[in-house]
Amino acid sequence: MTKIWANSADSHVMEPADLWTSTLPPAIADRAPRTERDDRTETIYVDNRIQRRALNAFVDSFRPPGAYDTAMRLKDLDQEGIWAQLAFPSMGLWLCLIEDRDVARACTEVYNDWCKSELMDASGGRLIGAACLSMVSVEDAVAELERVAGLGFRCAFLPTTVPAGKEYADARWEPLWAAAEDAGVLLGFHIGTGDDAKAYRGRGGAVINYLETTFPGMRVVGHLVGAGVLDAHPNLKVMIAEGGASWVPAIADRMDEGYRQHGAFVKPKLSMLPSELIYRQVYTSFQHDRSAVAAVTAMHYRNVMWGDDYPHLEGTYGHTQETLHDLFDDVPADVREAITIDVFSELLGAPKPPPT
Ligand code: MN
Repeated sequence: MTKIWANSADSHVMEPADLWTSTLPPAIADRAPRTERDDRTETIYVDNRIQRRALNAFVDSFRPPGAYDTAMRLKDLDQEGIWAQLAFPSMGLWLCLIEDRDVARACTEVYNDWCKSELMDASGGRLIGAACLSMVSVEDAVAELERVAGLGFRCAFLPTTVPAGKEYADARWEPLWAAAEDAGVLLGFHIGTGDDAKAYRGRGGAVINYLETTFPGMRVVGHLVGAGVLDAHPNLKVMIAEGGASWVPAIADRMDEGYRQHGAFVKPKLSMLPSELIYRQVYTSFQHDRSAVAAVTAMHYRNVMWGDDYPHLEGTYGHTQETLHDLFDDVPADVREAITIDVFSELLGAPKPPPT
């Protein structure tokens, strides 16, 4: 089996359990994210609330050797055939739930400085961090986005679900869209993050809840297109990470229909169709979905990137080559290269894999 080298547009860093508590003053550290482990379980606290509790045996079962160590991570990637990775946080995904302005600002700065030195610099450019931003203060988010852009970050993470009243269509976010556009920073909305609806506990819950994580990503696109954000910021690029891709042409059609058929009620008017804005500025990543490849070949939606979601259970660690061959052996090489390498490299200015 020939080794297929790919870039990955979705992966995660595992922060040290005491990243925030060991560096911040006690008054803030008390409310920062922390992981506690006893004999049986691992518990993650954010702002002194339990965000997740899981059995040690379960979480350890799918953490690859390099999950906590950049040098070992690169060995994992070499083995799997991954060259560059866009890396979202893990515990840092929950920073968006912090409600205190000072705590949010301090915790995002600590994460971003650590990510820059321990991940980006330590990997020689193969690992590209997604910065964390305050969700309490747009002013602080803009300041931190500009600071991390100066450090070399090309992407900032935002949650797919925001509290009612703070929806992404709201004008409150306008300075952040302008700052991201000006700095050339991709906004990476990762599914399953933010104020997610309660999980369904009845029968079928595992699959039902997995599907449920997809819908908020669609909602982000709806808000950014409908409110005219992408139209007003033609150089702003956004990504819905880990949510598949074939829904993009489908919701683009839905929004075109609404824009046309309900035209009398549409405000603001757009300079082009919703689908044109979406195909121009909205990017996606997927791991296993065969339909994501068809979104490119059959629906001509080209902003599709493959991702390995390392080191998560939904990811491809341990079977990356089988996955890549299964997805791409029967499609033209230029399509495979676009999805696995070129779109990513153009979007993030990232290195391409060595020629094989
Ligand atoms: Mn992911």
